[in-house]
Amino acid sequence: VERIDLFRGQWEFLSNFYRAPLIWEGIEYPTSEHAFNAGKTTEPFLREWIASADTPREAKRRGHLVRLRDKWDEQVRYLVMHQVLRAKFKAHPGRAKALLDTGDALLVEGTVWHDTHWGICTCSKHQGEGLNHLGDMLMTLRKELAS
Ligand SMILES: [Zn+2]
Repeated sequence: VERIDLFRGQWEFLSNFYRAPLIWEGIEYPTSEHAFNAGKTTEPFLREWIASADTPREAKRRGHLVRLRDKWDEQVRYLVMHQVLRAKFKAHPGRAKALLDTGDALLVEGTVWHDTHWGICTCSKHQGEGLNHLGDMLMTLRKELAS
C-alpha cells in the first residue's frame, strides 16, 4: 500500500494549511486550520477574529488564546475537525476527486513539530510516533466520498 506522509507539493491540498475557502457554521474561513481553531470557541466575535487571521499559522495562534469550549478535548474537537474537512472538500469538488484518487493509500500527516495527536512526528525524539487522527479522518472522509 502506498503511503502519503508528507502533505506538500501535489499532496498539499490534504493539509489544513492549504488555502481552500470553506463555510462552516455560517462563517467563511480561508483554510480548514482557521475553521478548526474557530471551533474552539462558540463566541461569534472570536470566530470572526480567527477567520480574519492572515495566515493559518496566525489562526492557530489565535486559537490558543481563546478559552476552550466544554468537552473540546474529549470529543468536540473530533466532531469539529470532521465537519470542517467535510465542508472543505464539499466546497472544492476537484480536491474531493483528488482525495478519492489516492485510492487506498495510507494517509499520514507527517510533522516535524511534535504533533503526535493529529499526525506523526518524525523528529529524532519521536521517530514516527503519533496517533495520526487527521490522516484517519481523511481516510474516513475518502470512504464517505466513495460511497
Ligand atoms: Zn517530535
